[in-house]
Amino acid sequence: MDLWFESALLEDGWADRVRFRLADGRIEAVEPGVEPDAGDERHFVALPGLPNLHSHAFQRAMAGLAEVRGRADDDFWSWRELMYRFVGRIGPEECEAVAAQAYAEMLEAGFTRVGEFHYLHHAPDGSRYDDVAEMSGRIVAAAESAGIGLTLLPVFYAHGGFGGQPAGAAQARFLNDVEGFAGLVERAKAQLPPDGVIGIAPHSLRAVTPQELRVLLPIADRGPVHIHIAEQMKEVVDCLAWSGKRPVRWLLDEMPVDRRWTLVHATHVEADEVAGIAASGAVAGLCPITEANLGDGLFPAAKFMAQGGMIGVGSDSNVRIDAAEELRLLEYGQRLTRRARNVLAGEDRPATGARLFDAAVKGGARSLGVETGLAAGRPADIVSLNRDDPTYAERKGDALVDSWVFASRAGIDCVWRGGVKRVEGGRHRRRAAIEARYRTALARLMA
Ligand code: ZN
Repeated sequence: MDLWFESALLEDGWADRVRFRLADGRIEAVEPGVEPDAGDERHFVALPGLPNLHSHAFQRAMAGLAEVRGRADDDFWSWRELMYRFVGRIGPEECEAVAAQAYAEMLEAGFTRVGEFHYLHHAPDGSRYDDVAEMSGRIVAAAESAGIGLTLLPVFYAHGGFGGQPAGAAQARFLNDVEGFAGLVERAKAQLPPDGVIGIAPHSLRAVTPQELRVLLPIADRGPVHIHIAEQMKEVVDCLAWSGKRPVRWLLDEMPVDRRWTLVHATHVEADEVAGIAASGAVAGLCPITEANLGDGLFPAAKFMAQGGMIGVGSDSNVRIDAAEELRLLEYGQRLTRRARNVLAGEDRPATGARLFDAAVKGGARSLGVETGLAAGRPADIVSLNRDDPTYAERKGDALVDSWVFASRAGIDCVWRGGVKRVEGGRHRRRAAIEARYRTALARLMA
């Protein structure tokens, strides 16, 4: 069935009365300025689906459990201890059930593709499952169950600190040597659906030695390369002690960082590092909700975007899954520290929410190795705004996106991914079944 919208944010700007002809999961043709046919499904406003470039799906299961103060200097590292306790209990079934729930919620929020930074590879004691890519297969199955696009980023993790320090017992599930990892990636690749993308994710400079990093890169082929970097000041201090350089500086100097790369967080960066990431074409993978929740700090987004830097957003810990809120918090962090308004608006695009949305669609696509946007030939990944939300009354063009980002509560109506309607009336069409399985898995995890 073809879709008709009162207005649509197309690749080249807003248009009214737009029909999308769909075929084989793609937009076959875009017809602006037409009246609806009798057979068209009619909707309000179409936006392109937003890529979610960074997720650890299993962490959805612990959302809300880490908000109790454990000790006076509670910080990221105490959160990580709780996360590791969960890591010790999640088996394949729980992994798939929790990920499907997270992915259904992502679609409801307007995300149509997820970059899963997947590091739970082995059994809790570190022993291999019969299929070494069992857990990757569960991520693939969860993405198919929810109907979200998947860019799978198997994580290489080998060490517990800079300079090849041994990993701890709690990290046993994550560990591979380079050869084992290459086999795992090969096997995971074979499990992907036709529009799936595979990349690699060296976990961080804490977990990978320079020698390993150099050997890993060819495994990515032309696919995406994601790495956590400079999220915490302790990491910066440890990296300085190890190499004499800050993490981002080290990476830019030592590795062929280019547009295939996503630097996740990159929170603690100095001016030369900001300029270096922007010039490389790498995407800064920002996760504003998680970075706020973990007390990480604030990436200098205004300076970075002013230099042409590409950004995208990720839901990371999945403590809350909300695309509009990621963009809103990204801007609000800048406002609060600079005591100014509309910091991330552009001279070419003065509407702040619309500019951030557009940047995150383009940066997210680059990061996840896909094409997005509403244009002929692109995947039919489309989000419709909810006409019944009074927030949108008498809004047009970019003001609609600003109102979604800054003001709406029930802002999304339908979401199509690969031409199939996955969300209707703001609710995932398979939510009941996915949620029931999630609740059963949580009962086992928390028992
Ligand atoms: Zn992460």
